[in-house]
Amino acid sequence: MPNSVTPTHCPYCALQCGMNLTPSQDGGVAVVERPDFPVNRGALCGKGRTAPAVLASGVRLTSPLVRSGGTLVPATWDEALDRIAEGLGRTRTEHGPDACGVFGGGGLTNEKAYSLGKFARIVLGTSQIDYNGRFCMSSAAAAGIKAFGLDRGLPFPLEDIPKTGCVILVGSNPAETMPPSLRFFNELKENGGTLIVVDPRRTRTAEHADLHLMPRPGTDLALALGLLHLVVAEGRVDEEYIQERTAGWEDARAAAMAHWPEYVERITGVSVPQLREAVRLFCEPEHAMVLTARGPEQQSKGTDTVGAWINLCLATGRAGRPLSGYGCLTGQGNGQGGREHGQKADQLPGYRKLDDPAARRHVAQVWGVDPDSLPGPGRSAYELLDALGTDIRSLLLMGSNPVVSAPRAAHIEERFKSLDFLAVCDVVLSETAALADVVLPVTQWAEETGTTTSLEGRVLLRRRAVTPPEGVRSDLEVMHELAARLGGGKGLEKSFPTDPEEVFEELRRASAGGPADYSGITYRRLAEENGVFWPCPGVAAPDDAEDCEDASLDATAGADDPAQDDEATATAVHPGTPRLFLDRFATPDGRARFAPVTHRAVAEEPDDEYPVLLTTGRVVAQYQSGAQTRRVDELNAAAPGPFVELHPRLAARLGAAEGDPVAVVSRRGRAVAPARITTGIRPDTVFMPFHWPGEGRANTLTNPALDPTSRMPEFKACAVRVEAVKS
Ligand code: SF4
Repeated sequence: MPNSVTPTHCPYCALQCGMNLTPSQDGGVAVVERPDFPVNRGALCGKGRTAPAVLASGVRLTSPLVRSGGTLVPATWDEALDRIAEGLGRTRTEHGPDACGVFGGGGLTNEKAYSLGKFARIVLGTSQIDYNGRFCMSSAAAAGIKAFGLDRGLPFPLEDIPKTGCVILVGSNPAETMPPSLRFFNELKENGGTLIVVDPRRTRTAEHADLHLMPRPGTDLALALGLLHLVVAEGRVDEEYIQERTAGWEDARAAAMAHWPEYVERITGVSVPQLREAVRLFCEPEHAMVLTARGPEQQSKGTDTVGAWINLCLATGRAGRPLSGYGCLTGQGNGQGGREHGQKADQLPGYRKLDDPAARRHVAQVWGVDPDSLPGPGRSAYELLDALGTDIRSLLLMGSNPVVSAPRAAHIEERFKSLDFLAVCDVVLSETAALADVVLPVTQWAEETGTTTSLEGRVLLRRRAVTPPEGVRSDLEVMHELAARLGGGKGLEKSFPTDPEEVFEELRRASAGGPADYSGITYRRLAEENGVFWPCPGVAAPDDAEDCEDASLDATAGADDPAQDDEATATAVHPGTPRLFLDRFATPDGRARFAPVTHRAVAEEPDDEYPVLLTTGRVVAQYQSGAQTRRVDELNAAAPGPFVELHPRLAARLGAAEGDPVAVVSRRGRAVAPARITTGIRPDTVFMPFHWPGEGRANTLTNPALDPTSRMPEFKACAVRVEAVKS
């Protein structure tokens, strides 16, 4: 261990809590408080506290595995890498580059996400790359880009929340998903502000609310339209702001005026008096915010739904003003950075668009390739997974477990089984890795250095604190080795450094001048400043510089030279951008755009056969597909398995008592789990957490109906029936 105390960040959610790691008595590391990091000030949830358990877990993979005679058996690294090169190479030769797929993850560091996108496009030459973050925040990203010209989860720091007057939290349960963040909402209330929670369940977060609205799942769009209708009807519109800073108001206004409060009450189940109270609480203070999470976003109309909530902010003059605005609470650890640097099907590093000729030229120059050689946009995550075994014959997967986390999971599991070749890089034998032809054991958070970008857009440095187990290599080393084997003797491996800082230096140049500009950020700054908010320009974009390499060297030399003149540093270094849009939005004319959206039903409405709506979500002691957290004893004890949350009236109709097994059946399959009976859920809705495989796998049931813009599946609402299970 390099230092006795290593400041770093949690491996799990997008809050990216600061923590210190210190040697433990068993030879590993222990988590200790890191009060200097302003987001969590030392507080951690149980997942963060127990994160070192995964490092030392007995189920940790420490040898490559290759399939032989139907089972996975240990192999050398060379055997395993050769086998992957052979599998992907054969597919590329026989079926073309687009028959090779790459699937990444929102937990990968920026360096890995960047390298993975580059690997797919210049080593495999495939357009078929996407990642599990598509299932997380893509609707909010699409709506944010439409409205503001730029997507950064939160365009302001979390520390602004306690100083605003009202927050509407839509489909978000931070008390369970990121508990240390709850203090911002509690401080808001202590300061006299109000919290409105929109959720079909009385979650732990809703218990803190001044007003809890419980709409039917999938009707958040109508709810936002109803609130906007009342804003107009009650004369609470900020006409001056609309005039000066927005475009498209008349169409949005007309759409909202067609959604009378009584009509919205019928759609959503939220009463007109509650709608009026929400408008009053939101409009009376000088400052107010709307924050969304997966509830409104994971819908087949998620982009429009988020657009409707943004409309509410724009009509009341809230966006792009201090202590006000719209933000998305991104979920995964690097959900923000993961979508900025090229592992998304339609994007290049720096949040550039893959179909933008100037963006292609810029990135191709940094990569040293012909822009015309870069493939175009590929399939979105679900569409890519659905094409496994047909158009896509081989897959390389890093940092994801779609057999548990994808919608219509039983079908996706079969698609994985139909592949000609599957290679998975992971730390444990996840449910998806268990289907692979080759599994590579890779390093994880505390064993490697790298950067992540939190939900605030704050770029952070995670430091290596412990030596990885023997037999384990980093994802960057994997890409380096595969580039050597698949590069046709062109020396492509030189384009895939194994040193994360070297990768970051290239990422800086690739992002320079783009929407997510990291070019002014260095590892040294991250270490000294507790993170830096992007955009943070610093390196001239190659297109603008006489010589791209010289430009980067200049900036890097300045950053790395400890003897650098302080005054020069002060003038040369961009401070980063904690707050966006205060002067103008990132659209060509600087104006925010209203979205002219109207209500539409969920893709699968209840009927006689499937009369109830299923919604899914998380519990505090598990994370995502549970691949890591299900292997931690303390977390398993707290949350040992799935459950079906249902209202007493529905339970009575089934004759089910607390703890009885109940079956939830959708058009895609059946899941069984114990009943958890509560009045804190709508009688027409059941809830299941999605962290587990097997017969209680919630995603067996979920609907892959896709949002037409973001390609987000409709995880949050599908029609089911609930049955008592006879013993
Ligand atoms: Fe880690 Fe998120 Fe828990 Fe913080 S809230 S300790 S980042 S899982």
